[in-house]
Amino acid sequence: MNAILHQICRDCAPLSALGAVANYIPELAKADPEKFGICLYTGGGNANFAGDFLERFTMQSIVKPLILLQALLDSGEDAVRNLVGVEATGKPFDAFNYSDQALTGAHINPMINTGAIALCTLIHGDTYEERFCRLLELARQLSGNPELGVDEAVYHSEKATGNKNRALAYMLKAYGMIHDPVEDIVDCYFRACSIRVNCVELANIAFLFANHGRDFRSGQQLFPAKHARYVNAILATCGMYDGSGEFALRVGFPAKSGVGGGILGVVPGRMGIGVFSPALDKKGNSVAGIRALELLSQELNLSIY
Ligand code: GLN
Repeated sequence: MNAILHQICRDCAPLSALGAVANYIPELAKADPEKFGICLYTGGGNANFAGDFLERFTMQSIVKPLILLQALLDSGEDAVRNLVGVEATGKPFDAFNYSDQALTGAHINPMINTGAIALCTLIHGDTYEERFCRLLELARQLSGNPELGVDEAVYHSEKATGNKNRALAYMLKAYGMIHDPVEDIVDCYFRACSIRVNCVELANIAFLFANHGRDFRSGQQLFPAKHARYVNAILATCGMYDGSGEFALRVGFPAKSGVGGGILGVVPGRMGIGVFSPALDKKGNSVAGIRALELLSQELNLSIY
């Protein structure tokens, strides 16, 4: 397995030249496009890795499955379904063109910004700071790293420039889908996006979703299997935004990308994968990361379809 990963690393790292690091969050523009790392957990929890697998980057949208899971744990499936739908939008993650229709939950899903921002309101806590802390605790637990924290520079950079997300949140508020102060809600969202991880931690999180919530180390059920199925199904249809159909064809398992360059890959019952390369395609997905998952899927026959 290590030989396969090292080959993938050699083949895919140069593909970063075909993409560009995100720059709409100024701090992300500092990422080194040459970095490439991959880690996967299989079977009884054996880890394999290659490249810059310990390099840290911000989760960005990869935190969305965790926001969804925390909302499911705190408020239950009915509340989540009532607020945010499950259909793919076929639109970019920060799409804004809802203006000629009344925005309802049916128009959004948990993997795009509006859906994730709305779901922050279903996480329990007296303040949004407290809600974020509970989300961070979940990320720490699932990643296996109790020290996980926020990249303060990225957080402040996004908070200073994230007016499109504020506008999306105000739109949710205008249509009566959220009620709390917008600034508090988006602050929780910005902090969540700025949690720093590496490929090993991503693979850990992915492996838990692949095993339907059961921790292979302790044998403990960390969250209900039905929540894992909910999250995995939405990752399969919406996890790569308007690139989800193409990804299903080329790779064929649930995944979530982030503009930090990470991708979390969930192969149900088999494998958890974390891959990182910061240069993105036009849809905000890691170019080399997608190709690495495609090669891995071909090599190990991972498509679930
Ligand atoms: N924090 C980013 C944003 O809201 C996350 C987007 C992404 O990773 N696609 O714009």
